[in-house]
Amino acid sequence: MPRNNDLERIYNTLDETQWWPFEQIQALQRRELTPLINHARRTSDFYKDRLNILFRPNGTIDWDRWTDIPIVSRADLSAKRHEIQSKEPVQSHRPFSLVKSSGSTGDPVEFLTTRFSNDLSVAALWRGQKWAGMDWSKNIVTMRGDSKNLQAGDVLGPWGPYWMKDALKGKAIFTTYRTPAKTRADVIRANSAAYVTVSDGLSAALIDHLRTTGERLNLNKVRFVGGTANSLLRQEFKKLANADVFELYSSKEVGPMACPCPLGHGWHQNAEIVLLEIVDLNGKPVAPGEMGRVIVTPFGSTTTPLIRYDQGDYAVAGPNEPCPCGRNLPRIASISGRVRHSLFKPNRELIYPLPIEARIALSAGTWQIAKVGEHSYEMRYKHRDWGVAQDLNAFHRYFYETFYPEANLYLKRVDDFLYGPTGKHQEVVDEWDPDSQIGG
Ligand SMILES: [Zn+2]
Repeated sequence: MPRNNDLERIYNTLDETQWWPFEQIQALQRRELTPLINHARRTSDFYKDRLNILFRPNGTIDWDRWTDIPIVSRADLSAKRHEIQSKEPVQSHRPFSLVKSSGSTGDPVEFLTTRFSNDLSVAALWRGQKWAGMDWSKNIVTMRGDSKNLQAGDVLGPWGPYWMKDALKGKAIFTTYRTPAKTRADVIRANSAAYVTVSDGLSAALIDHLRTTGERLNLNKVRFVGGTANSLLRQEFKKLANADVFELYSSKEVGPMACPCPLGHGWHQNAEIVLLEIVDLNGKPVAPGEMGRVIVTPFGSTTTPLIRYDQGDYAVAGPNEPCPCGRNLPRIASISGRVRHSLFKPNRELIYPLPIEARIALSAGTWQIAKVGEHSYEMRYKHRDWGVAQDLNAFHRYFYETFYPEANLYLKRVDDFLYGPTGKHQEVVDEWDPDSQIGG
């Protein structure tokens, strides 16, 4: 692991390595992994014996055994955080900070991140922004946690690589998850912001506000975090705010894991900061075009080492050939979101999201499909006028094409959805608890 924690140098390195041949990128990954693996094995009780399988009798690493290392689950991290944590954290990676990931979507987890890991994340984020053509000299309205000292509209300073002259002109503007949609729209306009960061729930609220008031925004991009923007949101942001949606594939445990290819050929992994695998049920890599679980080993996590950690998402592996954009960073064809929010057919096939046409047929805006019984689903939706009459037959057709014939569907129109402090709206929730069925 590199000892320098100079953001500028890491960024410049990433700017160069993106053009490296794959073999060279793989060699870089092994150079990063070797000290991390040895460090975890030596200083973490959890990994002491777990990584033995990787080592030859002479102490060298046999990379062919990599996929034999057992996968670390979110439940492991939740229950055994202290065992996983290094007893001799790398001092040059200080300061460490405790990160908590909410329990509403699975096992709550806590872990210590390092400044080194944070530097890698920021540099990878900037590279992703550059790929997306974002201009650091413009203003961005951010979305942060509540603060005692700051209020919506306060100017935070530059948000791009600070050593670049132009980037010093751009300002980040403070708002929080709780800032009302009207205030957020006002802050965007008052600062002539080109960008806004929103979560799934907040983006729905902002769109509802623009639609009901008739106000329009002139943004360039909406940075979407904490979910996957569906086609409805993309259309609405284009229409109401003149903005394209920009997404990163990111998690609290790793930071940005992949960014969209600038030429639209899927996603490029940030392979210089994380080893990302897409694996089958046996933990072995799936073939290109196949879906599997996302397993990550972030190089910067030296304090809470995560060696083959199950990120909780499904993704489709991209082609192995070099990308037409010229980059050899491994590709992901598509990302299917959190396993814990996914629904499955009786044959264990993943159920994909309903198409936009289904939403129009139902005259629905924001919606949520909940699994409420073994084969029962409740579709909760806010009414939205698409300019065509509701067509329930058509909606049912889309539903059964996407789900399966034995499924039962209940429709429930709602006035609004309640959002928690993180502003996350879940379009898919599994509320069925088989144990509660016992005794009726
Ligand atoms: Zn590409």
